[in-house]
Amino acid sequence: MDYDVIVAGGGMAGLITAASVAKHSNQNLDILVVDRNLRPDAGKKTINGWICGDAVSKRSVDSIAEHIGIKYGKPELEQPVKGVVAYSPNHESKVLFDGEGYVLNRRILPKRQVADAEKLGVKFEFGVLLDSLQHENGFVTGVEGAYVKDLKPFKKSSKIVIDSSGSASKLRANLPIESFIQKEIDKENDLESTGRYILEFERGKEDDTYFDPDYAIIHLDQDLAPGGYAWVFPKGENKVNIGLGVQHRWLVARNRRMGKNDNLQSLIDQYIAANPVIKKHRPPVGDADAGNVTGNWQVPVRRQNDCLVANGYIIIGDSAWMPRPIDAGGIGPTIMASVIAGRTIAQALEAGDSSQEALWGYNLEYMKSYGYQMASFEVLRRYLQTISNEEIDFGMKHFLSQDDVDRITEREHPKFNKVKLFDPLMWLRILSRFPLASGLRYTAKKSEKLIEHSIMFPETSKGFPEWHKVHTRELDEAYERFSKA
Ligand SMILES: Cc1cc2nc3c(=O)[nH]c(=O)nc-3n(C[C@H](O)[C@H](O)[C@H](O)COP(=O)(O)OP(=O)(O)OC[C@H]3O[C@@H](n4cnc5c(N)ncnc54)[C@H](O)[C@@H]3O)c2cc1C
Repeated sequence: MDYDVIVAGGGMAGLITAASVAKHSNQNLDILVVDRNLRPDAGKKTINGWICGDAVSKRSVDSIAEHIGIKYGKPELEQPVKGVVAYSPNHESKVLFDGEGYVLNRRILPKRQVADAEKLGVKFEFGVLLDSLQHENGFVTGVEGAYVKDLKPFKKSSKIVIDSSGSASKLRANLPIESFIQKEIDKENDLESTGRYILEFERGKEDDTYFDPDYAIIHLDQDLAPGGYAWVFPKGENKVNIGLGVQHRWLVARNRRMGKNDNLQSLIDQYIAANPVIKKHRPPVGDADAGNVTGNWQVPVRRQNDCLVANGYIIIGDSAWMPRPIDAGGIGPTIMASVIAGRTIAQALEAGDSSQEALWGYNLEYMKSYGYQMASFEVLRRYLQTISNEEIDFGMKHFLSQDDVDRITEREHPKFNKVKLFDPLMWLRILSRFPLASGLRYTAKKSEKLIEHSIMFPETSKGFPEWHKVHTRELDEAYERFSKA
């Protein structure tokens, strides 16, 4: 083997995981990160830039320091925020969830991450477009591709390949060995089209429901961002990451309902134009944002892949569909997963075993510590997509309790307990909004079942088929209900 580990894709997931494997190993492992970008463009997501909302919680950043020993600061942590505030469509209700965090500079951060990984002995091969996985005797044994510059073939072998090549991973889609990993996402229901600008601006009217340098703002609005949400994340007093995400089928329905013909780009442009605070905007000057002003890309918004490992192969980050289904936040889950993957891979290599069974701990530990909420959030997301602006306004005002908000902040599923209280006023509200109330109760109950079942994730691969059958049955029932809504 040329390497112990090859990391396919040096974005957020690949760079942290490479450092994590190196950090967790007592051996001097040979780790290679391969990316199609050239070194100065490390971490670039698409040809248009480092497309992201750039928001991450403080606890995720702290966990890199705690488990991998890497502490970030300025300039990669561009703006600290005190929390995330979600506004109802009429801006009358607001919910503060998620505590402190940061808005990152995604262009600068990867340079720091490459340097940190190199200090830990990780090697890099930039400018290589990977095309496929090598395999032998039912094990993944390496990667193949070509240098972007001159198309010279590239072929390297390794004991384990970490696929962190993002949501459009060709490697996962064409996985050449038998495994439980799902190869394709349901594009119609589980992919969100998103886009954003990074802008400097002059303040027009002061209105902190539209811009607040201390808070990341989310706007829930089915006319503005059908099937998704819009965001205004501060990068300073006069600098912002502003954008939105939509789901195609809900955009089509919204256009039909409103007699319009909008697309993602026209919605983003209208959203910016309608913001009363952000005026006279312009692209930022300087290297920190060069080539990173505007761009669109896709985010997976389902639970993570039901299986994350195969013989000689693991998936992580967007390639494993890790972003949280309700807010498409992918950086936090990726950080948690990278710590577990690093530990598991280091142990497997020390034991000289790179089989699915030896890597299963990554599956199990990720599910038990973090991933167990994701199926329930997927169902909540599917439900929220079916309700109108008016119902969101009403629901946020009357049906959401502090307990629900606390649960969301703790990354747990809300229980919507208010909609079952035996209080006469609440009964009137419930009766007047029966479909809304019963939808909330249904998702709360379904969520309990999904969480219970997720926690029972099998200890070894033997139990997976039976576990997966039940998981799929529970989810299919929820999909069926919300497809009719
Ligand atoms: C518009 C938008 C807003 C978002 N906002 C937020 C947010 O505010 N907070 C948050 O937590 N998450 C957000 N996300 C999600 C977040 O950006 C991702 O979850 C995260 O960046 C995933 O990192 P990754 O490394 O898995 O994938 P990527 O960032 O896609 O990195 C993949 C890497 O693999 C390389 N690569 C791909 N294919 C190949 C190949 N064939 N050969 C060689 N190299 C290859 C790429 O060059 C890239 O470096 C947002 C996403 C989008 C699109």
